Amino acid sequence: MYEFVIIIALLLPVAWWTGFRNGKGVAKGKSIKDRLGFSKKYFVGLNYLLNEEADKAIDTFVSMLEVDSETVETHLALGNLFRRRGEVDRAIRIHQNLIARPSLSGRHRKMSLMELGYDYMAGGLLDRAENIFKELMLDQQHNQASLKQLLLIYQQTKDWQNAIKTSEKLQINASASLKSEIAHFYCELAEVRLYEHVPKEAISYVKKALSVDSGCARATLIRGDIEYSLSRYKQAIKAYRELIKQDVELLPEAITKINSSFNQLNDKKGLALFYQTAIAAGAGISCILNYAEEIQLTENDQAAAEYIVRKMSSHPSVKGLLKLIELHLKYASDSARPSLIMLQEVVSKLLDNKPIYHCHQCGFDSKTMFWQCPGCKNWGSVKPIQGIEGE
Ligand SMILES: [Zn+2]
Repeated sequence: MYEFVIIIALLLPVAWWTGFRNGKGVAKGKSIKDRLGFSKKYFVGLNYLLNEEADKAIDTFVSMLEVDSETVETHLALGNLFRRRGEVDRAIRIHQNLIARPSLSGRHRKMSLMELGYDYMAGGLLDRAENIFKELMLDQQHNQASLKQLLLIYQQTKDWQNAIKTSEKLQINASASLKSEIAHFYCELAEVRLYEHVPKEAISYVKKALSVDSGCARATLIRGDIEYSLSRYKQAIKAYRELIKQDVELLPEAITKINSSFNQLNDKKGLALFYQTAIAAGAGISCILNYAEEIQLTENDQAAAEYIVRKMSSHPSVKGLLKLIELHLKYASDSARPSLIMLQEVVSKLLDNKPIYHCHQCGFDSKTMFWQCPGCKNWGSVKPIQGIEGE
């Protein structure tokens, strides 16, 4: 804080001298008294500074800066510095003060408005920020930056319809496509409708998501969930089969419903075949263990254990090890049992403390699935962890 005020104190004479040197002070008929007034305030501010009253010092220094074309940039720089330091109220005051000046040029007014919009964003005043960016998006120079801010607002407020409209406008001039994001917004709408028991509309949003991004695995996953909720198990399985082709890493998200759908249809062979196909396509340990359970039921424990051991040689996994311990415990001798139980507890605790999901963009780890990463805000970058401690 203290260093920051010193920067302002040093900045002020530079801004004042620049204006004075250009003859502005004289040309506008400013008297020596006015200029001395500046000096007096400056020393009052310095006095506050020396007494370590930083808040009063800042207010004094800022009040000294007259707003004219020479000092607008200094005001903007000061406002930005306050915002970056988390002093949003001060930043808002400075930018509002700028905008209130009738003499401000159109270009500087828009620049100040933009900064005020950023201040409101930083302060969580999203409705006020929205109004500003809606106005500025009509200006060619601020169009893209305003649309980006509006998109952030609509995602934060879960206003998915407006998020879609804004993304569509934004991607007209953007270098990168936003189709993946738009598909996720449709998926959000589909999930809301599914939750509200309006499956017809949910399906319609899933279709829109896939029409924007045919590779949107999340849309296919939701389609499966909608069909499952309607007890249309064959259609649910069809969607989950499509998921194998689109993104086999997401299959663990549907495993409970996959098992249940086949069980409802009393189709054990179909379930085994489903997992065989998924595993051949690269599905992880969750599918391998589910398939092993089918072997356990249709054949015996030994066949299931042999299958897991075979798979573990090419796909080492802590979850697989835990299942093997469980199978061996059934047949363990009295002398081996305590060691196996201890090993089972240790491996269980090891898994309990591990995250399940990982963001490929920023490295964020969690035990919960997020379609939008809470760390980097990217969509679809969080996936089940692969490898020995994951899938
Ligand atoms: Zn991330």
